[in-house]
Amino acid sequence: MTEAGQPRIRNFRDFRWDAVEHRPYKEEGSAPFRAISRQVLFEEPALGCELRYFEMEAGGFSTLERHEHMHGVMVFRGHGHCLLGTTVRAVKPGDLVTIPAWTWHQFRATAGEPFGFLCMVNRERDRPQLPTEPDLSALRGVTEVAAFLDGEPA
Ligand code: MN
Repeated sequence: MTEAGQPRIRNFRDFRWDAVEHRPYKEEGSAPFRAISRQVLFEEPALGCELRYFEMEAGGFSTLERHEHMHGVMVFRGHGHCLLGTTVRAVKPGDLVTIPAWTWHQFRATAGEPFGFLCMVNRERDRPQLPTEPDLSALRGVTEVAAFLDGEPA
């Protein structure tokens, strides 16, 4: 990283920020996400946290995962749905989502438009865990969750 701790202003335009790398995620055959990109907005060591912006195209989704570290999320663009534990909720710009440790979570662009959110996270963090088949079966046991995972939330 360059210029750590230095004063800096980066302008925002069209959901991109000056001098912020836009990282489309690689999608392989078995990738557990779709059509999502990442921009790291703040990664200052002195802050202890990072702020990232994730954006997905219509129909895209983030990885279904859980981990020890927490996330603080603010929806920034478009409408979508989020899975939080076994709860599915419609979310819109400005909505805040607190994702505690070891809570399954996923975001989906369900409104036929791009959907993006800001995500605050510890700089030092554990690797995400993906659901096993038994985990998925348990999640699918909740009707709303099954519909969400199939891309058809109520
Ligand atoms: Mn996560």
